[in-house]
Amino acid sequence: MSSYILSIDQGTTSSRAIVFDEKLQIVGVAQKEIPNFFPKPGWVEMDANDIYESVIEVVKEVLIKTRVMPVEIKGIGITNQRETTIVWDRKTGKPVYNALVWQSRQSNDLCEQVIRAGHSNYIKEKTGLTVDPYFSASKIRWILDHIDDGQQRAIAGELMFGTVDSWLVYKLSNGRTHITDVSNASRTMLMDIDNLCWDKKLLDIWNIPEVMLPQIKESSTIYDYTDFLETEIPIASVIGDQQSALFGQMCFEEGQCKNTYGTGCFLLFNTGKKRVNSKNGLVSTIAWKIGDEVYYALEGSVFVAGSAIQWLRDGLKLIETAPESEERAARVPDSGGVYVVPAFTGLGAPYWDQNARGAIFGLTRGTTRSHLIRATLESLAYQTFDVIEALENDTNITVKGLQVDGGACRNNLLMQFQADILHAEIIRPVNFETTALGACMLAGLAVGAFKSQDELRMMYNVDRRFEPMISITHQSRLIQGWKKAVRATMEF
Ligand code: ADP
Repeated sequence: MSSYILSIDQGTTSSRAIVFDEKLQIVGVAQKEIPNFFPKPGWVEMDANDIYESVIEVVKEVLIKTRVMPVEIKGIGITNQRETTIVWDRKTGKPVYNALVWQSRQSNDLCEQVIRAGHSNYIKEKTGLTVDPYFSASKIRWILDHIDDGQQRAIAGELMFGTVDSWLVYKLSNGRTHITDVSNASRTMLMDIDNLCWDKKLLDIWNIPEVMLPQIKESSTIYDYTDFLETEIPIASVIGDQQSALFGQMCFEEGQCKNTYGTGCFLLFNTGKKRVNSKNGLVSTIAWKIGDEVYYALEGSVFVAGSAIQWLRDGLKLIETAPESEERAARVPDSGGVYVVPAFTGLGAPYWDQNARGAIFGLTRGTTRSHLIRATLESLAYQTFDVIEALENDTNITVKGLQVDGGACRNNLLMQFQADILHAEIIRPVNFETTALGACMLAGLAVGAFKSQDELRMMYNVDRRFEPMISITHQSRLIQGWKKAVRATMEF
């Protein structure tokens, strides 16, 4: 009998189930899109039942596709969209409100109240995070304020809170187990990330009763068993999606970092067993806990990356498919002095300017469609440069190599330009399904399918390395232009 690990990757637009074999090879994938609701501008919600049901569907589908039998699955790993907040009834197990998705801004006013009350410094010190509706705390508060008797019911222990990982484990264990892992807990804005526990004062600030919170566990252990496939399978890892990608890239050691080029860019830098506080607009977060060992990371997120390529396709109609951007951009040797700053929804790390909006600079009569496409692709690399620069200032470490994944890392022109602009090596693995891979590896470690991280590391296969090919002078000149463009965008 063969043995496999099943990874569940629960995201904002879809749920995926991926079966991996003992060599970390993908045996099969199933995916299902899930509706998002936009009740008001800036609000994003999902139905928590859709989330769970889509997971069950994709798991069943991938087993049929691959003909893998449930008894051959040694463990299930869960990785998930982070921060998204679900509150449900302890007795019935039914959600009391839609899931508030990480992007949703409906708790903006609550965050402003907390900032006005002067709690920002305490929150930053305990959680490593900047007060923002992005994180779960204000979303929980918002739900309790918008259902009948929310606060009383929460105090009476009638309600349970969880991020998507907690919700899935709760449902998969038939309501027996209410847990989260440190990586997800570190995004709630309620956890003391040094002591790995819910913090009383943070709970007071947000007025959230502790009885509704899950127990915080490590990221790789058997939490419980699920029997929905008619055999008992251990649920053996839980980890937030970005941290999972860091693990899946085998960035196990301090100083290693990865960048995911998806809708946005998420750069995580492993800071080892110590927490590093950012002075440059990054957040400190927990990477994972295995046994007694906790690893920390610095994180920088760029809001608009791959979605700028979608804008070229759907908004400007300059390309028909995202991959076409590469061939189009390659028709010109450079962007011809054009800079695109895709601040469509403001600027994320390290600028944090909610009000900035996109801009194009350097247009001439000679500017062509290819220049615009190229400049848009280049903006992903420049934004990544800004995050790395902040990181280097925070850590005094020069980043010499960056491991990449996410849909847009397929673009060779972009990866070459990234190497040029960072003046660092870009390393693209063969398997860039690193998010699902991280959860698979952590589950495999928990059930003994893999012996050690060293064993895992041997299975990392590089697809391609990109080395810098332009001079430092040329690189600095390009960066100067970018900085000017960003400054002008923020001043506009
Ligand atoms: P997410 O997980 O955030 O949905 P993915 O990792 O699936 O994102 O990546 C999809 C994004 O990558 C899309 O925004 C798409 O525009 C972009 N993308 C995909 N392929 C390419 C490519 N070859 N060149 C540039 N961008 C691409």
